[in-house]
Amino acid sequence: MKAVFFDFVGTLITKRGENRTHLNIIREVLRRSGREDLDPVAIWEEYEKESSALFKGLAGKSYVKIRDVDTEALRRVAERHGFTVPEDFWEISLEMHARYGELFPDAVETIKALKGLGLHVGIVTDSDNDYIEHHLRALGIYELFDSITTSEEAGFYKPHPRPFQLALEKAGVKPEEALYIGDNPAKDCVGAKNVGMLSALLDPSGERRELWENCDFVISSLKDVIEIVKGLQG
Ligand code: CA
Repeated sequence: MKAVFFDFVGTLITKRGENRTHLNIIREVLRRSGREDLDPVAIWEEYEKESSALFKGLAGKSYVKIRDVDTEALRRVAERHGFTVPEDFWEISLEMHARYGELFPDAVETIKALKGLGLHVGIVTDSDNDYIEHHLRALGIYELFDSITTSEEAGFYKPHPRPFQLALEKAGVKPEEALYIGDNPAKDCVGAKNVGMLSALLDPSGERRELWENCDFVISSLKDVIEIVKGLQG
């Protein structure tokens, strides 16, 4: 084992923090639109529904800018409620992610321990380049990673092989020498498996049990990765 790559949202940062971030984006959008009469939670739920429907359709496909997909999701909701998406929606989004994003409590110690074992530690994420860099810098962990590979750079969304292959090229390792950690079996485990990488699913609540078959390991906490890697190093 020579390299470990992480997914970002739901793997290094929590879904709880992501939800709080998105709700605060909606609050700010409604404030700027003078529509504080609308219930932000209801608008947020509609936005999440539109957004996840759009992203579901993009899995494995050619990359399109996430800022455009997010903007389109919000535009659909805004149209129904008679307001417009602010011009600087993406800047609001970046700022709120930086402010409300939340690392898993054992993320930093896990990354540092893996680096201490001499491994290449990277990220493979479905994201825009400016988003991931801004977010990692805000979390104070940008410098910890040996490589960061985005869908923007690879030109495709996971589980397409290209983001994974590009990450392997950057690390200069063979697929069987690398482990991918993610929280989405269909995108993360399947994507890794398709290029010959091992995968571990972060599933703290065990709720995705029916989808475990695509993953080589299932972990309930990030630091479990350290023992898996030590075992693989023999
Ligand atoms: Ca994820």
